Amino acid sequence: MNIQQIASKARNSISNYCINECHAYCCRKGYLILNEEELNLLTQDKRKELEDREFIKQQEGNKFSLNFSNHLGSCPQLNDSKCMIHKNPKRPLTCEKFPIFVDEEKKEIRLSPRCFAVKENKLFPYTHKFLELGFKVNEDYF
Ligand code: SF4
Ligand code: SF4
Repeated sequence: MNIQQIASKARNSISNYCINECHAYCCRKGYLILNEEELNLLTQDKRKELEDREFIKQQEGNKFSLNFSNHLGSCPQLNDSKCMIHKNPKRPLTCEKFPIFVDEEKKEIRLSPRCFAVKENKLFPYTHKFLELGFKVNEDYF
């Protein structure tokens, strides 16, 4: 199994925890930086009200920040702790990769310290595999 396959398996290993115990904290708190296409995909018919209430802010380089601490209480695509666009290939890369980001060039794995599965060391069996393959594992990067 290569590093990307192990990372993918590691993400899948926490999916029940994400839904049933964490209740998708990462889709309810904080914000995401998105391009226009991603913003439209995530907000759809809610874009205007989120803009009017200033939960969407323009950033440099034609990017936007979408604040999840909004009147909806989360990303607009979150429903019952599940992502409604989980299988959409156009969903943001951050959503696809969170909380494990692989940098093959630097041989580094970055784990988001915001993630409760990371905080509770639920990825330990996989962390061990990353180390065995010669990757550094960094939890303080973000
Ligand atoms: S914060 Fe971590 S454990 Fe919680 S839903 Fe997100 S990825 Fe899953
Ligand atoms: S698109 Fe899905 S995974 Fe990404 S923040 Fe929204 S609900 Fe979460």
